[in-house]
Amino acid sequence: MTTKYRITVILPCYNECENLTPLLEQLKEELEPLKIAWEVLIIDDGSTDETANLLDQLQLKMNNLRSISFSRNFGKEAAISAGLDFVNTDAAILMDADLQHPASLIPEMIQYWQKGVQVVYGVRCSRLTEPAWRRISAYLFYKLVGKISDGPDIPANAGDFRLLDAKVIQAIRELPERSRFMKGLFAWVGYKQKAIEFEVPEAVNIASKFSLRSLWHLGLTGVTSISSLPLKIWSYLGSIIALISLIYASFIVIQTLIYGRDAPGYASLMVAVLFLGGLQLISLGVLGEYLARVFEETKKRPLYLVDQFRGFHDQDVNNDND
Ligand code: UDP
Ligand code: MG
Repeated sequence: MTTKYRITVILPCYNECENLTPLLEQLKEELEPLKIAWEVLIIDDGSTDETANLLDQLQLKMNNLRSISFSRNFGKEAAISAGLDFVNTDAAILMDADLQHPASLIPEMIQYWQKGVQVVYGVRCSRLTEPAWRRISAYLFYKLVGKISDGPDIPANAGDFRLLDAKVIQAIRELPERSRFMKGLFAWVGYKQKAIEFEVPEAVNIASKFSLRSLWHLGLTGVTSISSLPLKIWSYLGSIIALISLIYASFIVIQTLIYGRDAPGYASLMVAVLFLGGLQLISLGVLGEYLARVFEETKKRPLYLVDQFRGFHDQDVNNDND
């Protein structure tokens, strides 16, 4: 292999202080023998632990390290976007900083990339180390999203562990939307993609930084950013219900004509009113969900704010993140 390739490893970090040092060791072990030029770009997503101090120290020791600290926690999707904004090499590898993504997979990713594959993504072959509710909800989510997606399918179990060619990075940078569901965007851009399987290393602490609430929001962003079906379904459902009530109305008219006036049907009336009221509220809620996202987009706020750059030269920092 020659040294003409340059690769950046992007690490989004939220309170990963104790994992960073071992991870950087692993990266060195895997990348040094490949004889390529490589650097690490760490995005500190408003960590509240010692991450910022550690980054200051690491900066003095490593000459192939750059890092960014956000002004607060903006979330992993924003951290990944920032990473991609500041990459200036031929390819980038995105990986979690919590040691769940084995660095030993990187040489294989790079091999595929050198053969011309533009996106090499890791797929977890088993999620057994995760709690059952997360496995099941992830499974159902990808099934649902796969069914209703307006664009290409999102591969199930594919995480954010992936190698991206510079062309793909450029394509993603040019996507203007603010509400970002990275997995959806990665699938949407296309290019030559290849999946490779990996096992989450066993000794690793698998506690997730995502609360149930943030997973729910990510899920909603996922659905609303890749599909407009939830918006369209209500007119069909409404037409079906209107048709049924028309049939029912003619049934009542005929019944009254033949048998005379019947005792009023309190129960059926209540059920119909409550059912339709519920449906209307749901459809309003769905509209609100999309409208809120349109509102977010029109505000045109930046995806993240940077408090501190380390190891950057002026021309890198001026890279605008529109
Ligand atoms: N992360 C981040 N910002 C957040 C939450 C997480 O940058 O608000 C980072 C985190 O430090 C880790 C990666 O995203 O490197 C994956 O997070 P986590 O392990 O919590 O997610 P999971 O493995 O459950 O998908
Ligand atoms: Mg994790």
